[in-house]
Amino acid sequence: MAAASSIAEDFDDEFLTCQICFDLYEDPKLLPCFHTFCRKCVEGLANNSGGTKFKCPVCRSDVKLTSPAFSGGVNKLKSNFYINKLLDFRKLRQSKTSQVQCQMCESHNQAAAVCGDCIKMLCNNCVTAHRNTKELQNHSIITLYDLENPTARSRYARQIHCPKHKDQRMTFYCEPCECLVCIYCTVDDHRAGTNHDPKELEKVAPKYRDSIKGQMKKTKAVVSQINQQVENMDMELTATAQNCDQVERDVRRHYKKLISKLQQEEKEMITKIHKNKRDRKDELIREKDKLNRELDETNKGLTFCQDILDRDNKTELLFLRQQMEERLGQLASQQTGNMTSAGHTPLTFHPSNLLQVSLGSLGSLSELVDFSIDVERPAVESLPCSVTVTADTVGLTGGDVAPQIEVTSPQGKTTLIQTTAHTSPPLAAGKGQTSRVRRVWGVEWRPQTSGKHTLRVCMGDMKLSSHTLYVGSNNPVLRFGQKGSQQGQFDRP
Ligand SMILES: [Zn+2]
Ligand SMILES: [Zn+2]
Ligand SMILES: [Zn+2]
Ligand SMILES: [Zn+2]
Ligand SMILES: [Zn+2]
Ligand SMILES: [Zn+2]
Repeated sequence: MAAASSIAEDFDDEFLTCQICFDLYEDPKLLPCFHTFCRKCVEGLANNSGGTKFKCPVCRSDVKLTSPAFSGGVNKLKSNFYINKLLDFRKLRQSKTSQVQCQMCESHNQAAAVCGDCIKMLCNNCVTAHRNTKELQNHSIITLYDLENPTARSRYARQIHCPKHKDQRMTFYCEPCECLVCIYCTVDDHRAGTNHDPKELEKVAPKYRDSIKGQMKKTKAVVSQINQQVENMDMELTATAQNCDQVERDVRRHYKKLISKLQQEEKEMITKIHKNKRDRKDELIREKDKLNRELDETNKGLTFCQDILDRDNKTELLFLRQQMEERLGQLASQQTGNMTSAGHTPLTFHPSNLLQVSLGSLGSLSELVDFSIDVERPAVESLPCSVTVTADTVGLTGGDVAPQIEVTSPQGKTTLIQTTAHTSPPLAAGKGQTSRVRRVWGVEWRPQTSGKHTLRVCMGDMKLSSHTLYVGSNNPVLRFGQKGSQQGQFDRP
């Protein structure tokens, strides 16, 4: 329902169209929510939903009828005066261009006016007849001629007649009954007394006009409150958007930083691994060269001695005996220098767990742990010797779990020995810090047999660096008796 436009009370068909049947209103009824529909359309709505109540199809508010629609409940709804007036104007205007007959007489004359009392189109003759008839003289009439005259338009109105005294206008208002009544009613059904108090419209209307004005003032206050709330919502919308944008920026910045930090750590770690690989390779090649030289010298010494034995020249043998024995002894004992050479400490990678990451310890995302085993020499069968494990770690260590040592005897039998901490675990490194920490664990070990043992550091499932150790015999007789048969037995007494 569009608003009627301009002061001239011009109207368009859309404003006069019912939003249920999409036709011009036919006996328009005003719902409590101020929406208007044709009487038949409202009846249809009511009957479709049980007869006494329905929802306004425009605003969904509930409408209750005092009696079922089919027994006239819709009659209690007020007619829309203003729409009726505009419909009258529309019909009158149509008579300018098309055939609209007088509804008052049988003449079939073209209509030239409309009567708001008779609610009928009038021909010119009937307009004259109205003016000349005492009972019709005060009827509210507007002619086609006056239709564009604003004063005439505003003066014209549909009149309500008393349902009981049909020719009487409702010119009184009975306040206790809250209804319009006619002058006859004021001495009849609504005679002034304890229950009735009919007053002329002109006298009571201003009072109700003021009271409605007062109520409108309160309603306007609600409008400003709602406006304020809408404004608040707008502010909140803006604030929410700004807040989310800011947080998004923060998140992006943070993760960008984390990613670059991670990439940097990865790069550093890879560099370290590459360096380790190079160093280790160099070291191993040096070691290997040295061993090859030793092997060469040893073989030469053996060949020299073998040649003498082969030649079987007793004089030569005895002449060189002391020198050969010294040299052979030297060659045999040189091996003891390699006996305890430490095995490789493998590089290990310890991915950090989520808790560490959430603590912000990027440094612990991975760590390089460098374990080494040292044995207090000499290791002798049945005698206690102390074994220490040293770990140089970058970043956090895996808690305070002490490593175990897996010992493999010459016979291939393996046993696990638990170490205990000699130094306490380091405190968790602060955010973003990496620290190099040295930790030492130790255990007293009593080897059961002599010969070549392999010691290996175990952290959980991980087997780390290994160390080869020759355990000396505890029996000097046996040691000499088996001279030369086992390298370990050449260990210093
Ligand atoms: Zn309708
Ligand atoms: Zn409504
Ligand atoms: Zn007529
Ligand atoms: Zn009339
Ligand atoms: Zn009456
Ligand atoms: Zn009354």
